[in-house]
Amino acid sequence: MSDIVKHDPDCLFCKIVSGEIPSSKVYEDEVCYAFKDIDPQAPVHFLVIPKEHIQSCAAVDGSNSAVVGHIFEVIAKLAAELDLGDGFRVVSNVGRQAGQSVPHLHFHVLSGRDMTWPPG
Ligand code: 5GP
Ligand code: ZN
Repeated sequence: MSDIVKHDPDCLFCKIVSGEIPSSKVYEDEVCYAFKDIDPQAPVHFLVIPKEHIQSCAAVDGSNSAVVGHIFEVIAKLAAELDLGDGFRVVSNVGRQAGQSVPHLHFHVLSGRDMTWPPG
């Protein structure tokens, strides 16, 4: 059972996928889209999102988990192409308390500086 809407006309990232809102593209295929974060938190900071509207990691189920697997393949490929071998971080905030500000599943990819743990 799934409540996925393929395209939500009120969703910021759906508008980025459709081109209604411009973005700086890093990568695109039929399943996902990667673009630079508008407010970078590291020298390298881009977002990888599914083209279909999935609200967050909490909405991943058997109907869409292949999309998430594909996104992680893309992240590995981009990390190699962009020479992020010294290290990178993949983050997906889920819900208000974790700091999710856009309710369309996205994976932050951050690199190019030393990072601390735990995150804030
Ligand atoms: P969250 O806070 O949900 O984990 O991450 C949302 C991210 O989207 C933030 O890092 C924010 O800077 C980024 N963002 C918000 N609006 C836009 C936009 O219009 N364009 C781009 N490229 N990034 C955005
Ligand atoms: Zn969306």
